[in-house]
Amino acid sequence: MRLAIVSDIHGNIDALEAVLADIESVGVDGMVCLGDFVGYGAAPNECIARLRPLIEHAVAGNHDWAACGRIKLGYFNPDAAAAARWTTAHLTEEHLTYLRELPMSASWHGIYLVHATPFEPEEWHYVFSPADAAYEMTGCTEQVCVIGHSHYPGTFELAGTTVQYTRQELVRGDKSSRYLINVGSVGQPRDGDPRAAWLLVDDSRFAFEHRRVTYDIPAAMQRVREAGLPPYLADRLQWGE
Ligand code: ZN
Repeated sequence: MRLAIVSDIHGNIDALEAVLADIESVGVDGMVCLGDFVGYGAAPNECIARLRPLIEHAVAGNHDWAACGRIKLGYFNPDAAAAARWTTAHLTEEHLTYLRELPMSASWHGIYLVHATPFEPEEWHYVFSPADAAYEMTGCTEQVCVIGHSHYPGTFELAGTTVQYTRQELVRGDKSSRYLINVGSVGQPRDGDPRAAWLLVDDSRFAFEHRRVTYDIPAAMQRVREAGLPPYLADRLQWGE
């Protein structure tokens, strides 16, 4: 089976449409979203409406829960907090309810789905190091765990007691290893590559492909500016940071 995993859309409909076209072109048997449908971008309702009928599961991101009032904005930086307030004011009641009811985690085809980390997902930790990854992998029993949150795609492999990290685009999995994979961000990449990111899983070959997709960045930037969101949230899209 070929499976598509998207995350961190952040209300960027231009990026989402490009990713969906890429997913369509490669052909998949199922799709899920790891959260942060909204926040930062100017098209939160459009992104939820577009993605919701296509995905089999979704889990909650911190920006989703900030927008619907389930978590406080205290630890958000000023731009993120301003965007969260803008998003709350613009989301439909139906979409606010959808975000509020998202679960923290799910298991799908033997893959553990969570936005931040498997261990204490509600703390919204980041995985920075191989040691972090080894610790986090104790938080689930699945051989493969996929995460978003940092907007920085990459793969941690646990073989025996050793964790290796790679940013290789195509990872051929080893059946005796475990994997913690950050799928990157559709709508606000932060690894210096402004192209939208998503993960293709081929479970019959046990292979993981980090795909990147060009999209109309000037259009997304203009939408953010016209919405009256903080200008840096438009600017950063062109740099992928
Ligand atoms: Zn995010």
